[in-house]
Amino acid sequence: MKIDPITPMLEAIHQRFSADMSGALADYIPQLAAVDPRLFGLALAGVSGRVYCAGDADAPFTIQSASKPFVYAIALADHGLEAVLERVGAEPSGEAFNAASLEPTTGRPFNPMINAGAIVTTSLVGAVGPAERYERIRAVLSAFAGRELTHDQAVYRSESDTGDKNRSLGFLMRSAGSLRADVEATVDVYFKQCAIVVTARDLAVMAATLANGGVNPCTGVAVVSDQVASHVLTIMGTCGMYDASGEWLLRVGLPAKSGVSGALLAVKPAQFGAGLFSPLLDARGNSVRGIASCREMANRFELHLLNYPGRPSPATYLDTTAALLHSSKRRDAAQRSRLAQEGDAIVVRGLQGEITFAAAEEVLVACEQLSEQVRWLIFDVERVVALRRSGRAVLDALVRELGLQGVETVIADPGRRGLVAGAAEFGSRDTALERCEDALLETELPNQEVTR
Ligand code: GLN
Repeated sequence: MKIDPITPMLEAIHQRFSADMSGALADYIPQLAAVDPRLFGLALAGVSGRVYCAGDADAPFTIQSASKPFVYAIALADHGLEAVLERVGAEPSGEAFNAASLEPTTGRPFNPMINAGAIVTTSLVGAVGPAERYERIRAVLSAFAGRELTHDQAVYRSESDTGDKNRSLGFLMRSAGSLRADVEATVDVYFKQCAIVVTARDLAVMAATLANGGVNPCTGVAVVSDQVASHVLTIMGTCGMYDASGEWLLRVGLPAKSGVSGALLAVKPAQFGAGLFSPLLDARGNSVRGIASCREMANRFELHLLNYPGRPSPATYLDTTAALLHSSKRRDAAQRSRLAQEGDAIVVRGLQGEITFAAAEEVLVACEQLSEQVRWLIFDVERVVALRRSGRAVLDALVRELGLQGVETVIADPGRRGLVAGAAEFGSRDTALERCEDALLETELPNQEVTR
């Protein structure tokens, strides 16, 4: 059974903008002026690996500037963030994509998502020569897309024959010392990288791979680390739309990257990648219908990153004590009555979901309300799907602090994942409870303490 209400939603967005033929084809690369201006495709890929399409989502086009984040990812993987930042800045330059946007003294390009910065980035891809450098780029972009990509020779030649602006950026940076590789060879690889052929569907999968921590959700291949993916998304968030980046983040609120072919990709981290294609461009070189439909998607599907997301579901789903909740162990009448009277000394809390820093803080605040008589605190973590590093740090400290105040923390975890340091772990809530009941029953009766 295939259930798909999402494709019709994309089709409605496609339909809404399909008549808009405003804007112009890029013509400074002669071959791009030969593209059919009516082409218009949308695709959305979930981290589930499902891809939804509308319109010309399988029409091929050259990736152009939308290659930049992926090549930047290779440079980061090869050299690490610090070394890359030394050579290319991370500032939205507010300048056109082909501007000579360089730091005055060093010639270091400000922005890796426009041509100058991207040419240096290409030179940073580790390889013994230009042929191997291009092949690595092609192979990594292919892994992002989940299929073998190749470049369009005619578009490549067309740009190479006319690309003196990019060559001049190369020479400018070479003379300033910020481009250390051979200009012609580097620019040649850059032109080929820009001529790699993709579809809107490919861009969606590439974007979804970034959304999915660097793992292609369709093939399962880990293309880059989650840290590299997060750095790339950050740069796309601030610099991805040339000199329209600020307004884009304001209105759409998604890391994105455009290209002069009319390519556009956008990422909702951990959820979706969107790929769009419509070759008619606005004055800044961004796709008119791509922008309009991406904006509409962000709006309809509530994707803006900085919208108030609502509070996450509570970390604690169960809060009770051994006065009400008993282990399955048989107890005699005296024991039962003692547990009924003193059972509040054993608190049982069920935690659920992902224990982030914020979820751990919620657990911590709830512990401030524990009454004086509590001696044991059982955390049933069966429903905890993940404990984040930051959440673990808080819980570990909480367990230590409770210990100093005479409260013993006990973990019930059928998975026996050893999530919390310094706490005894049991394979079920029942055995954890039994152990705490035993401990309570072994203590002297409170009235005996008083008479002694
Ligand atoms: N290949 C194009 C160029 O360098 C890419 C620019 C773009 O897509 N904005 O001019």
